[in-house]
Amino acid sequence: TSFQDFSLADALTRALKEENYHTPTPIQVQTIPLALEGRDVIGIAQTGTGKTASFALPILHRLLENRIKPQPKTARVLVLSPTRELSGQILDSFNTYGRHIRLSSALAIGGVPMGRQVRAVMPGVEVLVATPGRLLDMVQGNAVKLSQVEFLVLDEADRMLDMGFINDIRKIVAKLPIKRQTLFFSATMPKDIAELADAMLRNPARVAV
Ligand code: AMP
Repeated sequence: TSFQDFSLADALTRALKEENYHTPTPIQVQTIPLALEGRDVIGIAQTGTGKTASFALPILHRLLENRIKPQPKTARVLVLSPTRELSGQILDSFNTYGRHIRLSSALAIGGVPMGRQVRAVMPGVEVLVATPGRLLDMVQGNAVKLSQVEFLVLDEADRMLDMGFINDIRKIVAKLPIKRQTLFFSATMPKDIAELADAMLRNPARVAV
């Protein structure tokens, strides 16, 4: 399998060439076609397997198929991640793959003042990468509205549960549109994670590497 086989938008393929990505990794080979079809996906994969591109590329492709201007304070893509560091890496990946499309993106992460993040999301963004606690604070302060999210990613779900984010995640998911695509990644799949996934995904495809 090569990246050509996925028929991704030219702007994305070009960015991949520039990054010297030649061959998709196993999680990418399995996840990208399912996500491009619009399926919900549960992926069991560790960091370092290329899982970020496995969700970022199909989501960017689907965003481009219907490029609309986000409404103020909203995001079309919401990525939840356990830590500031991982959130920053995920945002960097979206911006790298999206470098030829003028992607609008923002972070909502704890441990730093909220004002700049509030201003960044004010006009509306295509991609918002967030840690659950800070995102909820911003939603409760009316800085972010979750009513327009079309794509939800949970990255490192097991770590988010270990860190005690389960209730925050449930509150966030309750505010999202039912009609959305959800991609759920975890390194492990114990019972509580499987139950969370069951509650959030619709007829998910399962992939594991
Ligand atoms: P991740 O598991 O998403 O954290 O990715 C691990 C690293 O692999 C990152 O530095 C990516 O830029 C890189 N990477 C992901 N997919 C590919 C690929 N198909 N070819 C080369 N490098 C990749």
